[in-house]
Amino acid sequence: MNSYFSKFNKFPNNKLIRDMRSYAEKEKVPIIQDEGLTFLLFLIKTKKVRNILEIGTAIGYSAINMAMQSLDINIDTIERNEEMYNQAIRNIKKAKMTERINVHFKDALEVDINEFNRKYDLIFIDAAKAQYIKFFTLYEPLLSDDGVIFTDNLLFHGLVNNSERIESKNLRNLVTKIENYNEWLANNEKYDTSFFSIGDGIAVSVKKNG
Ligand code: SAH
Ligand code: MG
Repeated sequence: MNSYFSKFNKFPNNKLIRDMRSYAEKEKVPIIQDEGLTFLLFLIKTKKVRNILEIGTAIGYSAINMAMQSLDINIDTIERNEEMYNQAIRNIKKAKMTERINVHFKDALEVDINEFNRKYDLIFIDAAKAQYIKFFTLYEPLLSDDGVIFTDNLLFHGLVNNSERIESKNLRNLVTKIENYNEWLANNEKYDTSFFSIGDGIAVSVKKNG
């Protein structure tokens, strides 16, 4: 997504970040899109986010970008794929962020949330798209009262709300699950959610009266 504005928005940019971006492109690792990242980092800055929980680390690209915003930021991030986990560990070492980014090699749906003994200002849901309702429900108790739940890929390359165009049954099922999540989230009485056609589609949820 190369818009007129992309040349004005400045991202963290160093050799490691550039290497991660080209690796992700080559190996088709679905890292967050530039526009989504701009929005995510804006939110972290303006809300002065300190503690972050991320579901879906991949190679550590979003985690490292978030951690670069401030030395006060600490991140717990969960990844179930061993190859991705190892890459993330390697990249986080290179970024000298091992103290601040804690990668948990686990299936996020098999976590006992009591292991995480703190609350988070930001929960970033970015793992298996078919499981979004489960991730939200499981991790929501760890959100601080004025925290934000940020969900990525809710338009899924423009396929969401266009599922009649999709021939593959598996893909159509996945898209239906994302549509269900969007509806579920919009109707969730406990949260006030805003949806944005930014990047691959983003929702930002805050607790009502929170
Ligand atoms: N947040 C990353 C991209 C994550 S891609 C970034 O923007 O840089 C999604 C990742 O979620 C994949 O690496 C996948 O292995 C992982 N994943 C999917 N389902 C998961 C689960 N149930 N538990 C943990 N990780 C999961
Ligand atoms: Mg994503």
